[in-house]
Amino acid sequence: MPATPAWPPRSAPRLHVEADLGESITVPVDGNAAHYLISVMRVKDGDAVLLFNGRDGEWAARAADIRKRDLVLECMEQTKALEAVPNFWLCAAPIKKARIDMVAEKACELGVAKLQPVLTSRAVVDKLNLERLRTHMVEAAEQCGRTAVPDIGEMAKLDALLRDWPAERHLFFADELGGAPMRDAFAAHTGPAALLIGPEGGFTDQEREAIRAHSSAVAISLGPRILRAETAAIAATACWMASNGDWAE
Ligand code: SAH
Repeated sequence: MPATPAWPPRSAPRLHVEADLGESITVPVDGNAAHYLISVMRVKDGDAVLLFNGRDGEWAARAADIRKRDLVLECMEQTKALEAVPNFWLCAAPIKKARIDMVAEKACELGVAKLQPVLTSRAVVDKLNLERLRTHMVEAAEQCGRTAVPDIGEMAKLDALLRDWPAERHLFFADELGGAPMRDAFAAHTGPAALLIGPEGGFTDQEREAIRAHSSAVAISLGPRILRAETAAIAATACWMASNGDWAE
């Protein structure tokens, strides 16, 4: 068994940054990120911090020039290549704040490539703070070891989403009124995929018909119980990851 490298230690804090990362690049850090590293994580000169930006993989950096409100991080070595993200989008109707925040966090941890908010007629929420959702995803990516933060699409109306749907991507439609067992549907439809989850109030009959009539749509059932929208989103994403995503590798 290869020896565990002593540096960077496994406990090193992970931080998402916008800056480029690479051999001998120095990244200045201030604001909340500096406060987190200096005051919360008590990073000292020479300590390791793991950095990622969604483009350059993960780099172990050494903390230097630590002052009250800022520090610099010197890239030392690449510790992970940029991840290959499973080709899976979660298309979800907006739901109340705490619940959609949880969906964003879990979707990132589970490995989705993109969160696509979809406006349907029974949605109780019609605006989403995409910045806040992204913050939750960045924090989840820092915690779970991802090297890329999932994309977040602008909110799209259901009819526009269906109209502009990319033909090669299966659209698994979680239909609370019934569909194929997930296991069979995922086995029969491999390749780029998306999951469509309705809002608290579900889809209208008209919406269900429009989705079911779409050539990329595959209606799936999540069992005999009506799940809350966030439970459905998280559970079905996990099932897809286990059968067709990178949990299956
Ligand atoms: N109010 C609706 C339920 C909405 S549940 C009703 O009582 O009929 C919110 C969303 O979660 C649904 O639109 C669907 O996409 C998904 N969902 C929940 N339970 C499901 C199940 N058993 N099978 C498939 N999808 C389900």
